[in-house]
Amino acid sequence: MAEGKALWWQVRGIGMLNFEHKVISVIGKLINITDNVCLKEKSNKDALTGLYNREFLMNAINNIVKKAKKYYALAVFDIDHFKTINDLLGHPIGDQALILIAKVVEKIVSDKIISARIGGDEFAIFFSGINDQNDIAKKMNELMHKIKREGYRQNISLNLSISIGVSSLYKEKIINFSELYRQADIALYQAKNSGRNCQVFYK
Ligand code: GH3
Ligand code: MG
Repeated sequence: MAEGKALWWQVRGIGMLNFEHKVISVIGKLINITDNVCLKEKSNKDALTGLYNREFLMNAINNIVKKAKKYYALAVFDIDHFKTINDLLGHPIGDQALILIAKVVEKIVSDKIISARIGGDEFAIFFSGINDQNDIAKKMNELMHKIKREGYRQNISLNLSISIGVSSLYKEKIINFSELYRQADIALYQAKNSGRNCQVFYK
């Protein structure tokens, strides 16, 4: 549409054949399915941040790993002492921090990365096609620094840090979302226990 909005149409038709079985005309209808498509899109997204939700990420990962032609790994990160931000500055500022983090995350998304908010202050990043743990570590380091920097840039300066757990890197083996998440979560727990504001790879 002129205002930049996309509409979705379903086309249904029946062909009319002549005696030689050639289609000479089609009778049908166009059905506007925009609302249904938008509803589906919305159900894949987290309402606060606009990132994908856990359900979507889980299904996407389980489909991708079935093909398993590329290296893949799952990183899960959680905001450090987020309860304190809520308690000291209020829930709306906490929400603002979540939105800010989602914006930083969205900037690093590429065709090799799917990101999602999978819980309260927990986010996940799925890497596919990156075959070196060091490249994942670099990406996640960049994310940590950008989140910190953006936090300080807010009107009310926010001291934001995250702890990160990363699963093992796999290729040609079908490891589903639950197992990748289990590994990343164990590594995340170790990152929290090591003083937070750091990343740990599952071993
Ligand atoms: P830790 O460093 O161990 O992660 O400590 P934490 O304080 O961040 O604790 P934890 O991750 O267990 O708690 C997450 C908190 O996030 C709990 C909840 O009050 C808050 N939270 C969850 N969802 C939302 C939300 O949508 N908005 C806001 N503002 N807060 C949320
Ligand atoms: Mg937390």
